Amino acid sequence: MQMRSAWLETLGCQMNEADSEKMAGILCAEGYRLAESPEEADVILINTCSIRDKAEQKAFSLAGRFGQLKRRRPGTLLVLTGCVAQKLGAGVLERLPAIDAVIGTARMAGLPALLERVRATGRPEVDTDEASAGEHPAAPVRASRIKAWTNVMFGCDNHCAYCVVPFVRGRERSRRPTEVLAEVAALGRNGYREVTLLGQNVNSYGRGLVPAADFAGLLRAIDGTAGIPRVRFTTSHPKDFSTGLMRALRDLPSVCEAVHLPLQAGADAVLERMNRGYTLERYRRIIGELRETVADVAVTTDIIVGFPGESAADFDDTMKALAEFRFDGIFSFRYSPRDGTAASTMSDEVAEEEKARRLIELQSLQREITEARNVEHVGRVVEVLVEGPSRRDPRAWKGRTRANRIVNFPAAGAIVAGDFVQVRITGAGFLSLEGRVAAGDLVAARCG
Ligand code: SAM
Ligand code: SF4
Repeated sequence: MQMRSAWLETLGCQMNEADSEKMAGILCAEGYRLAESPEEADVILINTCSIRDKAEQKAFSLAGRFGQLKRRRPGTLLVLTGCVAQKLGAGVLERLPAIDAVIGTARMAGLPALLERVRATGRPEVDTDEASAGEHPAAPVRASRIKAWTNVMFGCDNHCAYCVVPFVRGRERSRRPTEVLAEVAALGRNGYREVTLLGQNVNSYGRGLVPAADFAGLLRAIDGTAGIPRVRFTTSHPKDFSTGLMRALRDLPSVCEAVHLPLQAGADAVLERMNRGYTLERYRRIIGELRETVADVAVTTDIIVGFPGESAADFDDTMKALAEFRFDGIFSFRYSPRDGTAASTMSDEVAEEEKARRLIELQSLQREITEARNVEHVGRVVEVLVEGPSRRDPRAWKGRTRANRIVNFPAAGAIVAGDFVQVRITGAGFLSLEGRVAAGDLVAARCG
C-alpha cells in the first residue's frame, strides 16, 4: 500500500511552529510521509493562531482555499488544529463545512487515531478536550538541522486582560527537568547548535513540580550536560524575572545574552488594566539590574497600542519608555479585542484609525533606536552561527549573533551552515548587520 502523505501549514508563534514539528513527527511515526505540496497531500493540516483577529481571519481564508483544493481532490482530509480549533471546537464545522477534523492544542497525540475514525465513519470528528492526551513518544520532524525549539512548559495561568492564550492553551504545566534535558541532550548528540526553550512565561517554570525546580536551575543543568553551544529562551514575564535568572545569563557560557521581556505599555494605568502585575518603575528596575548584571545583553519587547482607555498621554508614556529603554527591537501590535477576555468588555475603545496612527509613530521611533543600536556594533568582532546563504546575495552567508542580530557576510574559505565564525562588523542597517570574516578565518566549530 502507498504511504499516505500530509501537508502542514503553520500560522502564528514559535509555539505553533514547535507543535507542527511535533505533529509531523507523530504522523511520520504512524506511517505517513510529508507531502511535497498541498495539492498531492492526503491530509492537510492547518495549525492556527487566534491571538489577534487578523491571524484568525488568515486561518479562515486558508481553510477556504484548501476547501477548494479538496473539491478537486475528493478524499483529501482537511484538519484544523491550534488556537482557533481549540477556541471554536465544533463551531468550526458550522463555519467551515469542508473541515473533516478539529483537534485541540492538548490532543495532538491522538491525531492519527482521529484521522482513522474520520476515514472509517466518513463523518467529521472534533476533539478539543482540555485534558492533555499525553505526550506522543515520536521525535519532532524539525525544519532546521541547526536550530530547534523545545517546550519547557505549556499553557498560561496569567490572564492578562487582552490575551486569549489561557483560554486556548489551558493551565500552566511544566515538563520535568529530566524530560527537557533528555530532549536537549539528544539534539546536542545530533549536531544541533542552538535550542530555544519555549513557554508563555518561562520565569514561572517548575511551579507545581515535585521535586521542586526552577528555570535558572534548568538552564544550569542544560549548560552543564546537553552539549548545545547556544541556548535561548522565550518568553519572559517581568513580574517573575529573578536575580537568579540574571546570574544564570551572566555565568552560563551556552546561554545567549538576549532576553525578550514584553513591556506592553508605558503607562501604569494601562498596565494595571491589562493585569500585567508590574508598574513601569518595577520594569525599569528589572531592566536596570539585568543590564548591570549581564554585559551586552540584548533586550527586546512587545508593545500593544490602543488598549481600551489608552489616552494620548498614556501613549506618550509608552513612547517615552521606548526612548528611555532603547530596546534592541520590538514587536508591536494594534490591540485586537478577543471574545471571552476581560478587556473585550471594557469601554472606552480607541478608534482603529487612532490605533493605526499610534502604531506608525511607535514603529518609526523604534526604527531609529534599533538602527542606532545596530550601528554601535560597527567595528566589533562577533561570533556568528552560520544559518545558510544570504537571501539578498546567494554567494554570501547569513547568520546570527548571540544577541540574535542577523549578519550577512561574503563567503570566505570552506564555511558551511552550522559553523561558528568570527565576523568583523563593517556596516549596519535597521534589519541586519554587514561584515567580513575576521582575520585568521576563525571557524570555531562545525556541525557533525
Ligand atoms: N506569553 C508571552 C507574553 O506574556 O508576552 C507572549 C504572548 S502572545 C503570543 C505575544 C504578544 O501578542 C503579546 O506579548 C502581546 O503583545 C500580543 N497580544 C496578545 N494579545 C493581544 C491582543 N488581543 N491584541 C493585540 N496584541 C496582543
Ligand atoms: Fe497571554 Fe499574559 Fe499569558 Fe503572555 S503571560 S500568554 S500575554 S496571558
